[in-house]
Amino acid sequence: PNAPDLPLLHGLNPEQLAAVTLPQGHALILAGAGSGKTRVLTTRIAWLLHMGYASPGGIMAVTFTNKAAKEMQTRLSALLPISLRGMWMGTFHGLCNRLLRAHHQAAGLPATFQILDMQDQLSAIKRLCKAFNVDTERYPPKQLGWFFASCKEDGLRPKDVPTHDPDTRKKVELYQLYEDQCQREGVVDFAELLLRSYELLRDHPALRQHYQQRFRYLLVDEFQDTNKLQYQWLKLLAGEMEDGRIVGTSSVLAVGDDDQSIYAFRGARVGNMQDFLREFAVPHQIKLERNYRSHGNILDCANALIENNSQRLGKNLTTDQGAGEPVRIHEAPTDLDEARWLVEEIQALTKNDGFPRQEIALLYRSNAQSRVLESRLFNAGIPYRVYGGLRFFERAEIKHALAYLRLLENPQDDTSFLRVVNFPARGIGARSIEALQEEARQTGCSLLDATTLVSGAAGAKLRSFHALIDVMREAVAGQSLRHTIEHVLHASGLQEHYRADKEGQERLENLDELINAAESFVLQEGFGKDAIALPLDETASAAPAALTQSPASQGIDPRLPLLNQPLAGTDADTGETLSPLQAFLVHAALEAGDNQAQAGQDAVQLMTVHASKGLEFDAVFIVGLEEGLFPHENALSDKGGLEEERRLMYVAITRARQRLYLSHAQSRMLHGRTSFNLPSRFLDELPSACVKHLSARGFGSFSPKKEAASAYSTRFSNTFNSENIIKSADTALASKNTGSITKGQTVFHAKFGEGRVLAIEGVGDDARAQVNFPRHGSKWLALAIAKLTVVE
Ligand code: ATP
Ligand code: MG
Repeated sequence: PNAPDLPLLHGLNPEQLAAVTLPQGHALILAGAGSGKTRVLTTRIAWLLHMGYASPGGIMAVTFTNKAAKEMQTRLSALLPISLRGMWMGTFHGLCNRLLRAHHQAAGLPATFQILDMQDQLSAIKRLCKAFNVDTERYPPKQLGWFFASCKEDGLRPKDVPTHDPDTRKKVELYQLYEDQCQREGVVDFAELLLRSYELLRDHPALRQHYQQRFRYLLVDEFQDTNKLQYQWLKLLAGEMEDGRIVGTSSVLAVGDDDQSIYAFRGARVGNMQDFLREFAVPHQIKLERNYRSHGNILDCANALIENNSQRLGKNLTTDQGAGEPVRIHEAPTDLDEARWLVEEIQALTKNDGFPRQEIALLYRSNAQSRVLESRLFNAGIPYRVYGGLRFFERAEIKHALAYLRLLENPQDDTSFLRVVNFPARGIGARSIEALQEEARQTGCSLLDATTLVSGAAGAKLRSFHALIDVMREAVAGQSLRHTIEHVLHASGLQEHYRADKEGQERLENLDELINAAESFVLQEGFGKDAIALPLDETASAAPAALTQSPASQGIDPRLPLLNQPLAGTDADTGETLSPLQAFLVHAALEAGDNQAQAGQDAVQLMTVHASKGLEFDAVFIVGLEEGLFPHENALSDKGGLEEERRLMYVAITRARQRLYLSHAQSRMLHGRTSFNLPSRFLDELPSACVKHLSARGFGSFSPKKEAASAYSTRFSNTFNSENIIKSADTALASKNTGSITKGQTVFHAKFGEGRVLAIEGVGDDARAQVNFPRHGSKWLALAIAKLTVVE
């Protein structure tokens, strides 16, 4: 009774139709991006319900994000006129939560158990450390959290963890204490949700069998990114294990793409696919090879790129859609130019080509990259939305840093005080704060001032915080904004705090990015313009005109509140002149406040590549394609890491339907310094027939010296300790002395033919050029040996 003329099956290709209408039994769909895996999964649910093979209550579907679950629900509701309330659809965490709520007693939890997010969890561990006098130098709370989570993800309770050394013994002891504390307080962390519901099913046969019989159909999207415990959990729901095989009445449909496995760093196991095939003795395996999402050139780029990975199950995608437009590659002199170019392209896409803004996505490898993009979009009055992460000025570490800066400016700012008085931890507990608040209430003064009124040890600690703020204020008096922020990040202990933190890398990067933000703010607003010291004489005229333009001349919607506010030094109401720091704090508060597009508003979508998995857009920009950034520098040293980066790039490329833009900058301000990066190797891996290099303004007459100089003038104020940067600028400048060959030129090589010069390094006999040859790929050539002639 397959009824292929059923409307909901219309348009499926034969393989998809086969998958949707599979008879009972387990199945694996292994297929590339955009081949309709998610669509098959959704349509299968609709089909099962429509045909009466299952009721909503008999189906469990696991999606990767809540957003995906909602989308699936909407699509299903459109296909079927029935209530889907009994259906279990959501993320692993969401479903486990539901299970534990329903059986909290059996799971040993109070009915009202609360879920700890990452931050709550961290403060819980800190409290624990304090209560038991744990040496947090030796056992940083964040690392403990990491340790607990990885034990749980391996299914291990404290008693199960092997302890061979005293260090592990200590950590396991703390793990036990942490569990006791959570249990006492009735809270569970993310990893606990999974482990607890796994144990619930494992230890309660009657309950397990109930669910095994209930869920006849289990469907899992993005199966390649499941971790070990999630897979074990799934097995318990699917049936009983007998002789290494799952025996039961359920049918599991797993859907995935090994080329899109991008969470290995969090314990995801592609190996689950092989285990699944074996343990479920999967009778049906279906491949989908037609891509419905992307135009041909985009798809060819994705295919060619992923070919470079060795660890693949192997598959290729084709499309009927025609080649479409070439993939555009843009090289910008600096990251600021990159952002400026991007805004122009977005305006052209929306105005000339009629792309809705929400069909345009900007993808980046690291969260810190969003700041420059956000700022440009903001200035251009383009609504945007940041997904799967906080906007720059809303991130916790940024708010902490700003809170210190605010306290310097305004000792009355109690909110800022409370935010950082014990961050980083200074042994100031909740009870001391209460006492302090009481004193402040009675005397009507600020919390900072009230520190003098509290007695005992608590008072001493509070007063030393007060002193810290005073000393900081003195230290930065008369200093530049950049110096001020650098000093505060250091003296407050924030930098140190995140440096000691295993997962603090990204937060540190964001803190560095705050310095960059201040730097460009100063330049845009013209503070200290006279004071900019420029070591190179060309720079006087190289200050980019665009930066000094007023917002009004950039076609900005005057209704946006911030933009009418004269930030540059003067308060609009009082005429009082703001210090650069005050002006910057106003700027930060406003940028954090209200530029995020309203719900439902048509807005450009910003997200990391990780967050873009499973989504699709008409036009996609992938920015910052530079060695060290994407692929990320942490991944360059090992092959596994590099292949994961390449899969990430594959995910990014395959999000695009019609237009794909790739960009990189020759110099970039990141982590607080300017770096000159080579274009990403991934660009070299794309077939030249599918790409088009957009010519940069002034390309051809490109002079590294001028570029370096202009990057310089854009970035540095007088107090900037810039030795490193001068060095790297010098290295870039050195490349001038390489005879007649310059970057960007087309050259001819006797063996490889014509190619484009991507980069030049070294001087004299050591000079080498990186040349991209359409047929032979990118090569480094020693200029003294390779006889290159300039073609144009
Ligand atoms: P990813 O690996 O990125 O998650 P996917 O394999 O899940 O991709 P889908 O998101 O299901 O792919 O489908 C990609 C796009 O192709 C969607 O817009 C979907 O509606 C469309 N599509 C899928 N199958 C067909 C088809 N047979 N005819 C027309 N469009 C299709
Ligand atoms: Mg999908």
